[in-house]
Amino acid sequence: MERLQGIAVSPGVAIGEVLVMDNEGFRIPRRFLPRDAVEDELERLDRAIAAATGEMERNRAKISEQFGKDVAAIFSAHIQMLNDRVLRSKLEEMIRQRHYSPEYSVSRTLRHYAKVFQSLEGDYLSERANDIFDIEEKILRHLSGRRREELAHLNSEVLVLAHNLTPSETANLNPKFVKGFVTEVGGPGSHTAIVAEALGIPAVVGLGPFLTDVSGGETAIIDGYQGLMILHPDEETLARYRHEVVQHRSLAAKLEKLRDLPAETADGVLIQLLGNIEFPYEVEQCQKRGAAGIGLYRTEFLFMSRDEVPTEEEQTAAYSDVAKAMRGLPVVMRTIDLGADKLPSVPYPEDEANPFLGLRSIRLALRNPDLFRTQLRAILRASVGGNISLMFPLVSTMMELKHAKSVLREAMEDLDEEGVEFDRGIKVGMMVEVPSAVMMLDRFAEEVDFFSIGTNDLIQYALAVDRSNKDVASLYTASDPSILRLIDMSVRKARAGDVPISTCGQMCGNPMYTMLLLGMGLRSLSVTPAAIPEIKQVCRRVDIPCCERVAKRALELESARDVRAYLREELTKALPDTPV
Ligand code: PEP
Ligand code: MG
Repeated sequence: MERLQGIAVSPGVAIGEVLVMDNEGFRIPRRFLPRDAVEDELERLDRAIAAATGEMERNRAKISEQFGKDVAAIFSAHIQMLNDRVLRSKLEEMIRQRHYSPEYSVSRTLRHYAKVFQSLEGDYLSERANDIFDIEEKILRHLSGRRREELAHLNSEVLVLAHNLTPSETANLNPKFVKGFVTEVGGPGSHTAIVAEALGIPAVVGLGPFLTDVSGGETAIIDGYQGLMILHPDEETLARYRHEVVQHRSLAAKLEKLRDLPAETADGVLIQLLGNIEFPYEVEQCQKRGAAGIGLYRTEFLFMSRDEVPTEEEQTAAYSDVAKAMRGLPVVMRTIDLGADKLPSVPYPEDEANPFLGLRSIRLALRNPDLFRTQLRAILRASVGGNISLMFPLVSTMMELKHAKSVLREAMEDLDEEGVEFDRGIKVGMMVEVPSAVMMLDRFAEEVDFFSIGTNDLIQYALAVDRSNKDVASLYTASDPSILRLIDMSVRKARAGDVPISTCGQMCGNPMYTMLLLGMGLRSLSVTPAAIPEIKQVCRRVDIPCCERVAKRALELESARDVRAYLREELTKALPDTPV
């Protein structure tokens, strides 16, 4: 049994067979061969090795011509390794004696060799592990050919293990078959993490290198609460986790009963509990959990994982579907927040050194006026069929906000001229997710109808810590006193300007922060749909004076650790039965 610690990003427990995704997206499950297929499969292996050798010989010739024989020598070493007699007989034994598929035999054997090299002292030897991966990749590619099975075409339940998954790859996972995933890289605030939570797939990221140890087909447990992956669990551990799955199910069933009750505090203050969505189909999740509306629709997901930008008609249809399905409840459509880890289907600089500080979000939209105008037209057109507001992301200066508003005004004038209907009174808001926006919030208040605090980015920009980098993950926390102060300052300034303010970062979906946020004066929270019942339960069990006392005390603390400990203690006092 092997326990590996990573960062918990999507709650839940998943138990099952693992599927290893390498960079090329290969699937290497442990598959057994029928007895009579052994000879054919050995032949297939030989053909793949011959094809890979041919490919390397061609590469060697090309490189030798361009850069000389010395540089090309690396390919000679690869060719030699590929045709090594010991390797061949080891593979044959696995196929003949144990009836493993050639794919699994190649992957398991070469990964074992690579691991041995990696454990050797000295850069030269440990780097040879990469040569072995290279060889593995080449044989697998020739073996797989048409057999390559994409994640999208899974037909059995698996736990996916990968070096990395982009937000759009994650969005394309089918929760019916992908029961959990673990990645070597990634941070707590990444959009991959957010999408996993939206899909309800337990996930752990930032485990560091571990894929060399795994071939696929093994049993594992993903513990999305503790950020753990357990490989080859023993019977006792399996039984404990199976019991936990049952317990969580019954807790979820209990919370479901809250669906039609108001999110009202014990002293009668109504809290607006909204859902965050990435895709129109999540509307159903919001309704099932009794959301009072949608506080954040991340429309950029419509622009990802496709080659072409969605047309105005396509966008209008998607936005209208969401607005209509919510039957008059408020829907906040955030304009495209592409860039950084959300790669767009529009021209985008590939080599930005600091993409989170670069051409991202509203900046990217303003740099692509046609794209932006088309989206604004679509949102406006959809606004006749529902209760839509519009929100600009990542505003960092007044000029930016004014520029965005002027593009919106032009879009309205165009629609007017064309005689197209839209909601003329549509509310226009902005996200508060850069410290500069907090500092200028009193002035922004004169320009917008509402604010929404985006704590995911606010943490990243206030603490100078990349939200998707595992190496600085311990610094990425909403508990930092500076974040508490920034939220408090935002709420105060918005109130002074008489402008409604909500919040929609991941921290609002964590019950540990509910009393703090209510105590600071927030009355509207937008959370991952799955978190709605739990947050509603906290709201219903606490009263505002108690929350205010908690917020006041938390704001006096000096470190994230103290804040966390204090908030946990207060939550346990208020709701002794809630796990923290
Ligand atoms: C945020 O930054 O808090 C937010 C809600 O937006 P996103 O996570 O999409 O950047
Ligand atoms: Mg953001």
